[in-house]
Amino acid sequence: MDNCIFCKIAAGQIPSKKIYEDEDLIAFHDINPAAPVHFLIVPRQHVATLADCGEQHAAVLGKMLALAPRLAAEQGCGYGLDAEGKPSGGFKTIINTGPDGGQEVYHLHMHVIGGPHPWRVRF
Ligand code: 5GP
Ligand code: ZN
Repeated sequence: MDNCIFCKIAAGQIPSKKIYEDEDLIAFHDINPAAPVHFLIVPRQHVATLADCGEQHAAVLGKMLALAPRLAAEQGCGYGLDAEGKPSGGFKTIINTGPDGGQEVYHLHMHVIGGPHPWRVRF
């Protein structure tokens, strides 16, 4: 898509702090992080919003979700049990959809947000 910032990042036309890429997805640090760890998982193929996805996008959506915990762990906010068996670490996965969902970039992306307190917000 012309004039889509995430298409340009996926194509390497705009620089980003990339942390992962494969044939379907790229992931890079958010330019304006909301927490100590904040990166975006983005399909290479342009889809404007989650609401534009259909059954044909199920595989790539599944890949996005499955990649999140793996990259979160690599970025230092993985989830697991501590030595006493208590839940530890963790992150949020957020897909904003449309104006009322707070979406600013109209190329589907999933935020992965984490890191130690006190950054934590309800959503
Ligand atoms: P949205 O509100 O659409 O869910 O989130 C868009 C996110 O993209 C924002 O958190 C914003 O900081 C990030 N962003 C916007 N432009 C760029 C850019 O050029 N590079 C990177 N790395 N992040 C961007
Ligand atoms: Zn795009």
